[in-house]
Amino acid sequence: MDFALSEEHRMVQQMVREFAQKEVAPVIKEFDRKQEMAPFVLPRMAELGILGICLPVSYGGQGMDYIALGLACEELEAVDTTLRVVMSVHMGLNSLALFQWATEDQKQRFLLPQARGEKIACFGLTESGAGSDAAAIRSTARRAGDEYVLNGEKMWISLATKADHILWIGRSDPQAPDPHDGLSAFLVELDRPGVGRGDIHGKLGVRAGSTGWISFQDVRVPADHLIGEPGEGFKIAMSCLDNGRYTVAAGATGLIRACLEASTKYSHERQAFGRDIARFQLVQQKIAHMVQSYDAARLFYQRAGWMKNQGLRNTRETSIAKWFATDASFAAASEAIQIHGAYGYSDEYDVERYLRNAKGAVIYEGTSEIHQLIQAGYALGYRQDAPLRCELPAYEIQKWQQEDFH
Ligand SMILES: Cc1cc2nc3c(=O)[nH]c(=O)nc-3n(C[C@H](O)[C@H](O)[C@H](O)COP(=O)(O)OP(=O)(O)OC[C@H]3O[C@@H](n4cnc5c(N)ncnc54)[C@H](O)[C@@H]3O)c2cc1C
Repeated sequence: MDFALSEEHRMVQQMVREFAQKEVAPVIKEFDRKQEMAPFVLPRMAELGILGICLPVSYGGQGMDYIALGLACEELEAVDTTLRVVMSVHMGLNSLALFQWATEDQKQRFLLPQARGEKIACFGLTESGAGSDAAAIRSTARRAGDEYVLNGEKMWISLATKADHILWIGRSDPQAPDPHDGLSAFLVELDRPGVGRGDIHGKLGVRAGSTGWISFQDVRVPADHLIGEPGEGFKIAMSCLDNGRYTVAAGATGLIRACLEASTKYSHERQAFGRDIARFQLVQQKIAHMVQSYDAARLFYQRAGWMKNQGLRNTRETSIAKWFATDASFAAASEAIQIHGAYGYSDEYDVERYLRNAKGAVIYEGTSEIHQLIQAGYALGYRQDAPLRCELPAYEIQKWQQEDFH
C-alpha cells in the first residue's frame, strides 16, 4: 500500500490551489452576493488545463490520473463549491462518460473540444418529476429516419446557461417492460433550434455558479449523437454518477479542510473569559471532529480514485465516499459557524457560505438517504454490480501521456 502523492500530484495540487486561492478567493464573496459566476472562471480553468485534467493527451487532456482529478476538486472546493461543480458536471458526469462509452468518432468530435475547454459540458438527468427516481424520466427521444427528435424539460442542471454540450437522458422506448431499459443517452449541442434555458434564482447556496433548466422542443439531432446503444441510457447515467460522485466526495473533503482552517485561525484570534477560545475543550472537540472527518473523507475518496486508476469497479466505494464527505462537510460548516459565534452568522466570514454550499451536496448526485439504501443493499446482498459493456478505462501513464492513444 502506498499513500504517497507523486511529484506530479503535488504540482497539480499547487497549481489548482494557486488559481483558487489567488484568483478566485478575493472576488468570491462579491459574485456569491450577485448570484453570478465570475466571467473569468471557465476560460481560466480551460487555460490551466483543469477542464481536461484526467484525460489522455491524445483527446486534448493533460494525461493525469483520477487521483489528480480528486486533488483538483479538493483544492477548488476549499475556496468555493461552484468551482468544483464545474468539474463534477463538465468532467465527472459528461467528459468521462464520453471517454467510457462514446465511439472513436464521437470522442474526436465531442470529447476533444471538451477536454481542451473549448466547449463546456453539462449533464441532464433530473426533471421536475424525476430526481432520485431517475427511471421516472418523461422526456422523449423519437427516432425519425436518420435523426432523433428530442422533447422535454430538465431541471436543476448545473452550468445550464454556460454549457455548449449536454449529455441528455430521455425515453426512447416508452413500451419497454422495465422503464429503466427504455432510456437512451445523447450528446446534444445547445445551440440547436428548439433549445430553451435559464437560471434558477434564489438558491440557498452555489450562488456563484449556474443552476438552471433546459427545455427541448422538437430538437433534432443526427442519430450519431446517440451515446452507447438504444436502451443503455440508465446504465450510462449510473456510470456517470460513479464519476460525478467521486468529484463531489473530493470537493466536500476540501470544504471540511476550509472549515478546519477557518476555525483554527478564528479560535486563536478570538478571546473570551480572558483567553483564546482555542483553549476551551469544547471548542477543541469541534476542531478534533473536523480533523477526524477530513482524514477519513480524504482516505475514502483516494481509495475510490486508486480503484479507478486500477480499472476496478468502485460504485460502492465512491458512494460511501460521497455520502460520508458531504454529511461531514455540512456538519463541519455548522460547527465552524458555532466557533465563530455571531460573526459566523454573517457574510463577513466565509463559514456561512460554506454551510449554504455544503447543503446542496447532501442532495445532488444521490441524496444521503439514497446512499444509505445503496450501502445497506450491498451489505444485505440485495445489490450486486453487473459488469458494464464499456468500463471506465484504467489509468496507464505512458498511453495517456503519448500523443496517439490508439
Ligand atoms: C445545486 C444542485 C445542482 C444540481 N445539478 C444537477 C445536474 O447538473 N444534473 C442533474 O441531472 N441534476 C442535478 N441536480 C438534481 C439532483 O440530482 C436532484 O435534486 C437529486 O437527485 C434529488 O432529487 P429531487 O430533488 O427530485 O428529490 P426527491 O427524489 O424528490 O427526494 C425528496 C426526498 O425524498 C427522499 N427519498 C426519495 N426516494 C427515497 C427512497 N427510496 N428512500 C428514502 N428516501 C427517499 C430523498 O432522500 C429526499 O430527502 C442538482 C440539484 C441541486 C440542488
